[in-house]
Amino acid sequence: MKISFHGAAQTVTGSKHILTLNNGKNILLDCGMFQGMGHETAELNAHFGFDASTIDVLLLSHAHIDHSGLIPKLVKEGFNGVIYCTQATKELAEILLYDSAEIQTYEGNHRHHAPLYNSDDVAACLSQFKVIHFNEWFSLMDGVDVVYTPAGHLIGSAAITIRAKENRRKTTILYGGDVGRYQSVLLKPPAETPQADYIILESTYGDKRHDLTFNTIENIHKWIQKICVQQEGKLVIPAFSVGRTQEVLYALNQLSLEKRLPDISFFIDSPLSLLATQTIKKYTDQFNERLQKVLLVDDDPFEFPGLKYIESVDDSRRLTAYNKPCVIISASGTADAGRVRHHIHSCIGNANCGILMVGYCGAQSLGGQLLSGYQTVDIFNQSCEVIATTGQVQGMSAHGDTDDLLQFISHQPVEKVKGIFLVHGERHVQKTFAEKISLKGYKRIECPAMHEVFELPLKPKRKREHIPTQHTTTVHAVRNNTDIGNRFQK
Ligand SMILES: [Zn+2]
Repeated sequence: MKISFHGAAQTVTGSKHILTLNNGKNILLDCGMFQGMGHETAELNAHFGFDASTIDVLLLSHAHIDHSGLIPKLVKEGFNGVIYCTQATKELAEILLYDSAEIQTYEGNHRHHAPLYNSDDVAACLSQFKVIHFNEWFSLMDGVDVVYTPAGHLIGSAAITIRAKENRRKTTILYGGDVGRYQSVLLKPPAETPQADYIILESTYGDKRHDLTFNTIENIHKWIQKICVQQEGKLVIPAFSVGRTQEVLYALNQLSLEKRLPDISFFIDSPLSLLATQTIKKYTDQFNERLQKVLLVDDDPFEFPGLKYIESVDDSRRLTAYNKPCVIISASGTADAGRVRHHIHSCIGNANCGILMVGYCGAQSLGGQLLSGYQTVDIFNQSCEVIATTGQVQGMSAHGDTDDLLQFISHQPVEKVKGIFLVHGERHVQKTFAEKISLKGYKRIECPAMHEVFELPLKPKRKREHIPTQHTTTVHAVRNNTDIGNRFQK
């Protein structure tokens, strides 16, 4: 058996990992899009680094685009196997993938390059989805069983355990997907997972502790008071439509229940957010205990007076010209794409306005640049001076921090775990996190590079291989040619 890493390798987007069995079957774990990596993004998304037609099956952990966004391209390039996921993931992925196709068509026209896929490609890939239930083992193929357990990161999100029997040897691999928090605002904590030999673990916040004393609701309130009440300006909150927007709505709803919201308008400028909120509301069984209690007294924790959804492009355009104090929540969360860029563009030069980030922003993303204190940023090929107040509300991440991640693997006995592969994290974060994991007694921790291949069981002195990035190279080719990587390393 081999395992190879084709995205989220020493970076935080583009999750794609392949288990290659000795019989040549390839199991793909997630098929995410790279996002917010500056000029490299398009090139990284253009080529998988493996042949899509060699993939036999796809196990999808959750709907976020950095885990699902290249599925239509995978199908377009020849993958015709089954895509397994939970019901909520299927529904959210459908919403997100159609939106992704629309963004690409729009940006493709704007930047004069072909989109990776269109809405027809999305429709085609959706026919390959197959819904499975949490906590029920199912047979993936001869000798391979799989179970999805709740990961607490997003409605429908799962950690995936794969049990493969080859030559009478059983190997269990746990792929954590994105691991949620044990004190999530909305969701139940991650569930315990079956004992594994190898763990593929995300590490986004592996070197950080979320400040549990930080009061998100109070901070959002302070920003609204300062920008909208005292300065009578507009507060733009870039937020991903699925997950983060609902967390912001939940916070605003709490303030509304306490009658602490000013009499201004709150706009959700994203048709996607409306769909996502409607979908998320259906899965109350995945909400945490606190939210279950809120539901007893408030049947809609994401809705409050003054909230308006903007759907049409014309209404969105009109909103950029709206000059009364208001809060605008719009996607994307890193401000790299979507309608929010128009709102930032219209507010960034106004000292009375504010731009409030509420989630992780890669350093190269527009949100990251604003948080780094850039004095000018490039929006729509224009250099814009940053005059508006910019800042970040801490503590709203859907990703577990160092303690959450350690808790997630804490029931995995150190003497039984043969290796941990850290993915979905920046290199310097992974280095710190690897040291923390080592202190717990886990012995073999790897931080795979892009396209790196590992043979399982891991040998004491492993031989490193690299798959070239050319899309013509197949996983089979690499499996049978251990020298191929060396030719491309220079
Ligand atoms: Zn995610």
